[in-house]
Amino acid sequence: MWAAIDLGIIPVRIHYLFIFGALNTECMPGSELFGKEEKKEIDDVLETGILFRYNHEAQRKNIWKARDFENEVKKMTGAKYAHAVSSGSTAVSCALAAAGIGAGDEVIVPPFTYIASVEAVIFSGGIPVFAEIDETLCLSAEGIKKVITPRTKAVMLVHMCGQMASMDSILKVVKEYNLVLIEDAGQAFGSSYQGTSVGLFGKTGCYSFDFFKIATAGEGGVFVTNDEQCYTLADSFSDHGHDHLGANRGMEQHPVLGFNFRISELHAAVGAAQTRKVPQIRSINRQHKQLLMDRLKNVPGVSFADIPDSSGDSATFLNMLLPDTESAGKVVEEFAKQGVTGFNYWYTNMYHFINQWGHLKSLKAAAPLPVHHYPKPQDYNKLHLPKSQEVVGRLISFGIRCTWTESEVSALADKIKTSVKKSVDVKAYA
Ligand SMILES: *Cc1c(COP(=O)(O)O)cnc(C)c1O
Repeated sequence: MWAAIDLGIIPVRIHYLFIFGALNTECMPGSELFGKEEKKEIDDVLETGILFRYNHEAQRKNIWKARDFENEVKKMTGAKYAHAVSSGSTAVSCALAAAGIGAGDEVIVPPFTYIASVEAVIFSGGIPVFAEIDETLCLSAEGIKKVITPRTKAVMLVHMCGQMASMDSILKVVKEYNLVLIEDAGQAFGSSYQGTSVGLFGKTGCYSFDFFKIATAGEGGVFVTNDEQCYTLADSFSDHGHDHLGANRGMEQHPVLGFNFRISELHAAVGAAQTRKVPQIRSINRQHKQLLMDRLKNVPGVSFADIPDSSGDSATFLNMLLPDTESAGKVVEEFAKQGVTGFNYWYTNMYHFINQWGHLKSLKAAAPLPVHHYPKPQDYNKLHLPKSQEVVGRLISFGIRCTWTESEVSALADKIKTSVKKSVDVKAYA
């Protein structure tokens, strides 16, 4: 029954340990599974010596790893178009530019995300406007509605912690107010809602393949869209405006201004091999997450983040909610005593929540930015986001490891249970 053994993951892990040494316990699944597949892809590139994704047709012996990576992402997600770039962050920038969002545009963003989603808005010339999340850990339709102004152009919806937002209600608001939906699915590659991959509900979307994601290219990101014009714009924007037509880079046309967000063939090679492993990682993740949830669901004081479509969960995190911030803090303290590791308490210990973004709230920058010059509907130092504070305060997320054995999962569940029982006064929350 245990898929880890059936799918041959244990031998891969041993191989990995042998070659690269001990695993970093904070890493997510993709990096647990480096093996001969990644090495082969890299060797293909090194044999031709063409590390550049464009041109050099004669020397490259038909090796096109960036294109392979894009094709794997299209296969996984069902996207019509995919364009690989240097990072998830630059993929968010492509998603904004290709969707036509820029100077002076108000973009609704969540206060709980990797900060790249908000930075990308700022560097596009846009104005981030923070709205509330809910128990899905993502922006809520209600939260979005409350901060809409006549200058609101877009919603930057971030699918957090491997799960997905409440798409029905969000799509309704987006349509009602004629907003552009952009999805940062940076940490939700492999996640879907009712059969559609996250990242494909909006005009443009993107995934990250950094070292901590379900699949990694080392550094890398992929822009996705079903809109041909958005794809063409992102393709040029990510490479100084080049149209990539013909076989002579020097003679190409440049339909728009751009910059260098290119991915190298080496990174793309790793990304392609890793993307092929995602269905297998996801199915094991789901088993591990389910087992943990089954073991914890009856523990008084424990509940879980809402998953709008649990059959589409990439299951990279077990997202546990405690009754309130105070009890979550006590559980975190008890985890230290019980030797529980491998979790994120985003409220205080990570960089993913607005409480840690003092520089952003004060718009401290190396140089003046458009956002400094536009009127802003919010004072970022006086934001009132009680729901987001409450949800993130209650949230503890465990990174699911696909190389766990069944007994490791079981032991973790026991330790979590013990820690919660010792630290949460359930009578106070009855
Ligand atoms: C990881 C992440 C990014 C940034 O990706 P990088 O590849 O690290 O640049 C952007 N958004 C979200 C939601 C992420 O989790």
